[in-house]
Amino acid sequence: MSLFPGRGAPSTDVVSFEEARRIVERHAAGVSPAHIEAVDLLAGLGRVLADKIVADRDFPPFRRATRDGYAVRASDLVKVPARLEVVGEIKAGHTRETRDCVVGRGQAVGIMTGAPLPEGSDAVVMVEHTSSADHPVSVQTIEVSRTVNVGDNFVPRGAEAHAGQVLLDRGRRLDPAGIAIAASVGKAQVEVFRKPRVAVLATGDELVEIDMTPGPAQIRNSNSYSLAAQVQNAGGEPVRLAIAPDEPMRLQALIDEGLGCDLLLLTGGVSMGKYDLVEQVLTGLQAGFYFTGVAIQPGKPVVFGSCGAGALARLLAADATSPGAGIPAPQKKYFFGLPGNPVSTMVTFELFARPMIEALSGLSPHPLIFLAAKLKSDIRTKTGLKRFLPAIHSGEFEKAEVELAAWQGSGDIAALGRANCYVVVPPDRERIEAGEWVSLLMR
Ligand code: AMP
Ligand code: MG
Repeated sequence: MSLFPGRGAPSTDVVSFEEARRIVERHAAGVSPAHIEAVDLLAGLGRVLADKIVADRDFPPFRRATRDGYAVRASDLVKVPARLEVVGEIKAGHTRETRDCVVGRGQAVGIMTGAPLPEGSDAVVMVEHTSSADHPVSVQTIEVSRTVNVGDNFVPRGAEAHAGQVLLDRGRRLDPAGIAIAASVGKAQVEVFRKPRVAVLATGDELVEIDMTPGPAQIRNSNSYSLAAQVQNAGGEPVRLAIAPDEPMRLQALIDEGLGCDLLLLTGGVSMGKYDLVEQVLTGLQAGFYFTGVAIQPGKPVVFGSCGAGALARLLAADATSPGAGIPAPQKKYFFGLPGNPVSTMVTFELFARPMIEALSGLSPHPLIFLAAKLKSDIRTKTGLKRFLPAIHSGEFEKAEVELAAWQGSGDIAALGRANCYVVVPPDRERIEAGEWVSLLMR
């Protein structure tokens, strides 16, 4: 007799980490956001561009001095020291004088950083390499102590970008540098994709809301909050649902509710226990599963799948009052069943759910970014699983190093307070010695 009569045959569909990522990435490549909105530039921070940002004119729009000094003709300074007659001065933001002062042979024009070079000049000599020379009459002259080359100390017009050139592509997330670029081409508003709505559904009879006092065998539902925070960081809009008890009818009702969003994240209930009902209830909804386990630690029981058009149409028909009623159901809705242990939940979100949310946000696909640091003390593990172990990264530049944080396993949420990253241990390594370089997943 089965030890776990509540559950069908335990699924053995465990894939490698790399395979799981490929599966998610393949599905993520097929989704796209449906709506675009215009927001004020600063509200665009962190949002994904739905339209490219194009240079509205040449950058720089004029030959821009990069030093305070004098605009000169390099050919006048082949032999130094040399004296030049100063025929004018140009400050940043001023143009009238530019037209007036043309640098002729033997002449110079005082120029400030950011100002346009006058006609006739082909270099800027830094003020540090000049001194005012005494002259008996009112003509001002300078003595230049260094030679310059044509092109020194200014940026030619259009050297950074030409008018019409794409500076930021659609599908890029706006970071502060992107905000600077958008501002410089006069984008007071930017077109961004609407954030995907991501349902967060925590399951477990032991869970209570965070403003409740847990009974002796109860714990607070922290996963809904860590997940909501991660969803926000990834560019989604979290929708926290009520806690689902380990009871199929209520769980199904909440899954139905969650499938009304663009993506559903479940936590808990995906292990091998009698009351781990998530896969069972989703199977009843004709869900398809792409994997039901990944060879990683923490997070091995992670599940990825989708509900097909049939199930979604049934949902819309059942809820005639929903804003979606009457419109055709989308082809499919994706879901992730993340393990309930808090460290597993957070790690599996970063590894698998994030790329799907990013794709639903319109972000162009990108590889996971790992940093590297030297290991401070040896690691010993068993082979077979790729491990993402909570760790402490410290030191700067060439002194950067990392060591494992003490932890009691994937339920140890306190360890995450001591750690600031995860060390990645390849599945074939039993031992990694102090001093070796290891990959880090930052969080
Ligand atoms: P499960 O994946 O349902 O077997 O849960 C694994 C462990 O994670 C158990 O110790 C649960 O109590 C804990 N857990 C499950 N869901 C949550 C949650 N929402 N917040 C905090 N801990 C949880
Ligand atoms: Mg559970």
